[in-house]
Amino acid sequence: MTTAPAPSLTAAPRIAELDVLWITAGLSCDGDSISITAATQPSLEDLLLGALPGIPKMRLHHPVLAVENGEEFLKPFRAAARGEHPRPFLLVVEGSIPNEKLNREGYWAALGTRDDGQPKTTCEWLDELAPHAWGVVAAGTCATYGGVHAMSGNPTGAMGLVDYLGWDFRSQAGLPVVCVPGCPVQPDNFMETLLYLLYQAAGLSPMIPLDHALRPRWLFSQTVHEGCDRGGYYEQGDFAAEYGSRKCIVKLGCWGPVVMCNVARRGWIAGVGGCPNVGGICIGCTMPGFPDKFMPFMDEPPGAKMSSAAVLMYGRTVRALRNFTKSSLEKEPAWRSPGGALTTGYVRPAAATPAGLDAKEPGDAAEEKP
Ligand code: SF4
Ligand code: SF4
Repeated sequence: MTTAPAPSLTAAPRIAELDVLWITAGLSCDGDSISITAATQPSLEDLLLGALPGIPKMRLHHPVLAVENGEEFLKPFRAAARGEHPRPFLLVVEGSIPNEKLNREGYWAALGTRDDGQPKTTCEWLDELAPHAWGVVAAGTCATYGGVHAMSGNPTGAMGLVDYLGWDFRSQAGLPVVCVPGCPVQPDNFMETLLYLLYQAAGLSPMIPLDHALRPRWLFSQTVHEGCDRGGYYEQGDFAAEYGSRKCIVKLGCWGPVVMCNVARRGWIAGVGGCPNVGGICIGCTMPGFPDKFMPFMDEPPGAKMSSAAVLMYGRTVRALRNFTKSSLEKEPAWRSPGGALTTGYVRPAAATPAGLDAKEPGDAAEEKP
C-alpha cells in the first residue's frame, strides 16, 4: 500500500498570500473586533508577523485596526467587489445583516459610498464580495445567526450571514459560511479558526470540519456543563440561591447543560475566566436560538427545574454518604504513631532474616526497646 507524502511545512504554501477583508458594518457592537485583540492561541500579531511556519502571508484590512482611512482604506474592498483583487481573500463579517428590502426610505447599515454618492449598504457589499471570496467567515453571534438584533419584535428584519447568503452558499474554495459564534466571540476560538483556514489555504489541512450549525466541530462539540468548574456541585445537587456563591448556578438561570460552548473549559483570556467558572450564568450566546429561546435570562431554565429536582434528591443522599466517607478519609491510619509497637501488619519474611538471627514477630520493635 502506498501512502501520500505528509504535507511539508517548508514547502511553498499553495496560496502564498491571503488578504483578510473584515467588515464591521453589520448591526453589532464591534465586540468581536475587541475580543480578538486578546487572543493568544494564536495572537493576531503571530499571524500578521508570520510567526507560525507554513501559513500564507496574511494582510488584514480592518476598519478599527487599519492605518488607512476613507477611500484609501476602501481600495481593496472596491477591487475585491469588482473581482479585481490581486490575491485570494477571506471575507470576515461582524454584525447581523439587516433586511434592506424592508426599508421605505434610508438604510440600516452601510460602509462608504456608491458611485452615485449614496451610502453603499452592507447588503450591497456582501452581494458583490461574497461570490469572489476564497472563504467567508461570520465572526460572533450577530454575524452567524442574527443575535440580539434579530430578536422578536426587531424593526430591521436582521438575520445572520448564513441566512442572508444561504445555508448552501459555497465560496471559491468550496466552503460554506464558517460560523464562529459567541457574544462576543471567544478570542482564541476565532483566531484558531482563522489559523485553520490559513493552513487549509496553504494546502496543509483538509477541509475544515463543521457541525450542522456550520461551527468548527472541534470547538463546539461539548456543552458548557461538561467543562464547568461547578459541575461537581451540580452532580451533588448543591445549588446556589444567590450570586457570589461557589456552587452551581443553574437555579439562577444557567443554561450550561444544553449549550454547546467551550468557554468554561478554555477560559476567556489566556485560559483565565469562562462564564460560569467566574459566576456568570450561561445565557446560550453561541446557539442559533439565542437570545429569544433563552429568555428571560435570570430565570431558572424550564428544563433545569426537572433535572435539578431529580439531581437534588439523588444529590442529597450522595452528599450524605460522601460526607461519611470523607470524614473517614480525613483521618490518618491508626498505625502512624511514635509508639513502641509496630502495628502496620507487616510480617517479616523468614528469607529476609539475617543468618544467625531469630525471626521475630510483629511488634518485636517494642520488645527491643529498653
Ligand atoms: S454552573 Fe451551569 S454549567 Fe456549571 S455546573 Fe452548574 S449548570 Fe452546569
Ligand atoms: S458559557 Fe454560555 S454565555 Fe458564556 S460564552 Fe459560552 S455560550 Fe456564551
